[in-house]
Amino acid sequence: MTVEVYQFSSPARAESGKIRAMNFPECYKPRRLTRAVDVGGITVGGGAPVVVQSMTNTHTADVDATVQQILTLANAGSELVRITVNDANAAAAVPAIREQLDASACSVPLVGDFHFNGHKLLTDYPECAQALAKFRINPGNVGKGKSRDSRFATMIELACKYNKAVRIGVNWGSMDQALLASLMDENAKRDKPHDAHEVMLETVIRSALDSAQQAQDIGLGKDRIILSCKMSVVQDLITVYRSLAERDDYALHLGLTEAGIGSKGIVASTAALSILLADGIGDTIRISLTPEPGAPREKEVIVAQEILQTMGLRSFVPLVTACPGCGRTTSTYFQQLASQVQAYLRKQMPEWQKQYQGVENMSVAVMGCVVNGPGESKHANIGISLPGTGERPVAPVYENGEKTVTLKGDDIAREFEEIIAAYVDRTYQSRFF
Ligand code: SF4
Repeated sequence: MTVEVYQFSSPARAESGKIRAMNFPECYKPRRLTRAVDVGGITVGGGAPVVVQSMTNTHTADVDATVQQILTLANAGSELVRITVNDANAAAAVPAIREQLDASACSVPLVGDFHFNGHKLLTDYPECAQALAKFRINPGNVGKGKSRDSRFATMIELACKYNKAVRIGVNWGSMDQALLASLMDENAKRDKPHDAHEVMLETVIRSALDSAQQAQDIGLGKDRIILSCKMSVVQDLITVYRSLAERDDYALHLGLTEAGIGSKGIVASTAALSILLADGIGDTIRISLTPEPGAPREKEVIVAQEILQTMGLRSFVPLVTACPGCGRTTSTYFQQLASQVQAYLRKQMPEWQKQYQGVENMSVAVMGCVVNGPGESKHANIGISLPGTGERPVAPVYENGEKTVTLKGDDIAREFEEIIAAYVDRTYQSRFF
């Protein structure tokens, strides 16, 4: 009998720029090599790990509220934060926001989101331009005809003057109508015209590439340009980015625009981005979730991190493996424990990350009963198997596959957290040695 031995590659850790990453898993297509773009010290593209970014929803003119939200997003792991710069008050506030962040030892680079009046704001508020690491320009929202060209040129000239990166961010909802009309006319003259939807997708791609070429013609280096073509339909996003990736080597920002609220937004973004990332496409991502009332803004950062981590592209926080629960468990205790442990790990990470190398790769299992509990717990670095219905009220803990202790009583959650903390201290090498 022939025994087939399967060999799966396990991702080795590597250093790249400021961000630690895992090698690209071999089960995906090779990572597309793009131009590396420096955005305030963070490398986007050029094989660097996929960067997580987010956007505030405060009024930028409200400096305190904006600083507070940027700190929250950055502490959650956002490596770039975008803020809207929509009027004179917002532009005037940007330098103060940068100063307060620096005073709080937060160096996260800021991206300014400009639309119709960006040329004027960047001209009138040079300190705003200097405080930003990148300008985001939507070519569909700059203007029309000659005024569009001169406004666009002004913003690019200022990016050159202050040595800033630029994201040319086309959005499906604000497509360049003049370009669309021209491509529609061109298409109508073909022997076999494409359907109107295909022409619209082509318009989005051409808008990004033509604008990038204009920026280069003005003098902005290709290593200062990132492109995005955000769509709201998953299939369209995949089609557009695959085509964009084939045509040039600009660094690409991925995101499904208007993804939606709650699980719909998370699932749609995950479906779209996972396919593209597995194609080796994408240098930075943002998850455009509509927050549910009262939900924290940093949810979009956590979702972005979890997509990258579950795909084996990066590690951020130890992930908890937990069973869904079933009729063998009569209480929700183990669900509460699983979510409590995940929250505990996320809370500890800012400190652990400073102290312990590799702790973000730790796996933790919280299981509901003896059926899969011990097995899954043994596979994790550290795991606990809680008692199901009719089982003895004890919870064995496993560390590196071995049962080390059995917990019982009302204080299992706290005791398990202490065991995790001791495991981390014993297992992960101090960064200070
Ligand atoms: S581990 Fe036990 S409680 Fe959890 S889903 Fe499986 S059988 Fe149910």
